[in-house]
Amino acid sequence: MNFISERVNNLSASATIAMSQKSAELRAAGIDVINMSIGEPDFNTPEHIKEAAKAAIDANFTHYPPVAGYLSLRKAICDKLKRENGLDYSPEEIVVGNGAKQELCNALLATVNPGDEVIIPVPAWVSYVEMVKLAEGKPVLVYAGVEQDFKITPQQLEAAITPDTRLLMFNSPSNPTGSVYTGKELKALAEVLERHPQVIVLADDIYEHINYTGGAESISRFASLRDRMIVVNGVSKAYAMTGWRIGYLAAPLPIAKACAKLQGQYTSGVSSIAQKAAEAAYAGSQDCVEDMRKAFESRRDLIYSLAKDIPGWIVNRPEGAFYLFPEVSAYIGKKYGDKEIRTSGDYVMYLLEEAHVAAVDGDAFCAPGYLRLSYATSEENIEEAMRRIREATLRLV
Ligand code: PMP
Ligand code: GLU
Repeated sequence: MNFISERVNNLSASATIAMSQKSAELRAAGIDVINMSIGEPDFNTPEHIKEAAKAAIDANFTHYPPVAGYLSLRKAICDKLKRENGLDYSPEEIVVGNGAKQELCNALLATVNPGDEVIIPVPAWVSYVEMVKLAEGKPVLVYAGVEQDFKITPQQLEAAITPDTRLLMFNSPSNPTGSVYTGKELKALAEVLERHPQVIVLADDIYEHINYTGGAESISRFASLRDRMIVVNGVSKAYAMTGWRIGYLAAPLPIAKACAKLQGQYTSGVSSIAQKAAEAAYAGSQDCVEDMRKAFESRRDLIYSLAKDIPGWIVNRPEGAFYLFPEVSAYIGKKYGDKEIRTSGDYVMYLLEEAHVAAVDGDAFCAPGYLRLSYATSEENIEEAMRRIREATLRLV
């Protein structure tokens, strides 16, 4: 008997999480694997945020919180959106969920009807396509390779929009490529969207603070799109709080209400203690964000300079997030002993087995021929990983 639904049978497991688990298993078996598969800050959560969580326990924030989040947290988020992004949202238009991941999923489930087209510029984060499938939408992939710095053009966007387009998923700075759209590029895309008022824009701003261009710009800043804009963000990346599971969306009232309704049936409000910690993150000093950003920037410089020297790799210089996304198809067809590289996935497995470095196959991000390295790890690990990758790669003939 097969007890599993079509819905789940048709879903792929998350490749980032699978690869990270594999690398943890190898480490447990005594193999010194450097894990560059999962994308999460290696820093600990700042002290003042942890203190706020401890105080929340003592103050008995231990009952069911409101489904959409404590009012105090939603107010702190509104202040953040005003202060950092120049956006006006009221607390009623904010829904706090179990990470940005849940809010992306809520947004799709709340707005996409079966068969609706959802445009996803690719390479894109592993979960986008799968979330659209869960919502029974039809993913429409718009490809931008390394030769165009992984950024789609207004012409590509225009060509992808049809009368059935319901939504555009947009992520800048991008996971997995690290590319960041400039203000001018965003404006050109916004102008296309202005011509198609039926298209909802889902702006995933989770990496907004991990930006090396000297300032973050989001597609959410265009007032002309405000009535169909859903902004998703959270504390995972900016405040090194991946395990606390706090993300949010800001959206026009009917959409926010629909998301809260969904959440009220399948998860309720997020952990009360984590919510109080997130409130401290938004309301407190922002110095920690800048300190971590600077550390990521010097790691970016390091990994980029080392990757450029690997023969056959084509690399862009990532301007944000903490990923490098080299094009590695020069190694397809090469061999080492009885190991043959037929796909970028084979190359990733080869690097895991021969170099003991865990990466993620570009195929998981809808970009076969590439691989993703997360450099949210120490400079020492980056140097050692790149040395091992280079050595193992040069053995391929
Ligand atoms: N969006 C993107 C592009 C991501 O890389 C991630 C990965 N963590 C998320 C959303 C989800 O973040 P979280 O659920 O930890 O807030
Ligand atoms: N977003 C991170 C990554 O891409 C975390 C893992 C996940 O949720 O996929 O590695």
